[in-house]
Amino acid sequence: MIVIKSLNKSYGNKIVLKDINLSFKRGEIVGIVGENGAGKTTLFKCITGLENYQGSIEYDNGIIKNTTGFLPTNPYSLSRITGIEYLQLLVNARKIKTSNLKDKNIFDLPLNQFADTYSNGMMKKLALTGILLQDKEIFILDEPFNGVDIHSNIMIKEVLSKLKELDKIIIISSHIFSTLNETCDLLHYLKNGEIIRSADRSEFEMVEDEMKGSIIGNRIDKLGLK
Ligand code: ADP
Repeated sequence: MIVIKSLNKSYGNKIVLKDINLSFKRGEIVGIVGENGAGKTTLFKCITGLENYQGSIEYDNGIIKNTTGFLPTNPYSLSRITGIEYLQLLVNARKIKTSNLKDKNIFDLPLNQFADTYSNGMMKKLALTGILLQDKEIFILDEPFNGVDIHSNIMIKEVLSKLKELDKIIIISSHIFSTLNETCDLLHYLKNGEIIRSADRSEFEMVEDEMKGSIIGNRIDKLGLK
């Protein structure tokens, strides 16, 4: 289990995360939903140890960064290496023995093509494949559904449910509520750096209405559409 207590994060005098208190259990898919700029990526960077912060983040099964597969919003590759070389580099670096990497190409990527010529969606799928090849306990996926096609969307949902079955800790984010409500057991709504609502499945509809209300307000009425 990961337990976050009184997490605060600022960049200069800009406060980005305010008094975050959350916990993440094994075998649960937890979604962090919030508009662009709400602080989702910063939260993930704090959890994975890529940013410093105030407060505490504790994990009862080792050091988080050693056992976390982190998928950034926009993963990138070194230049002039192919998809297959990217995967090979990763498994070599982690000293993982894998036979036939091409068999693990669940997204049917053109693995002989240079990865720096991949589209954003393709690169995301390659990076996710790379993460899944490493035996991790925690999976933190920043906007995994953003920019990928419908087939991959279905595949990612299946991967997430497999990870849940394997009792992993799974945290995903989205700025679009509907991409998370099918997949997650719990949702936290992050707004301007604060968790303003947490909900289990029975309450998702309420959170969605709340999000809609907060985003739309009376903005459309102001247009005076006729
Ligand atoms: P989200 O992932 O929800 O879109 P982010 O965590 O990326 O949000 O950003 C939250 C806020 O923090 C934004 O206002 C963003 O401009 C600011 N921010 C993020 N990274 C930095 C940084 N390195 N320096 C200064 N401000 C940053």
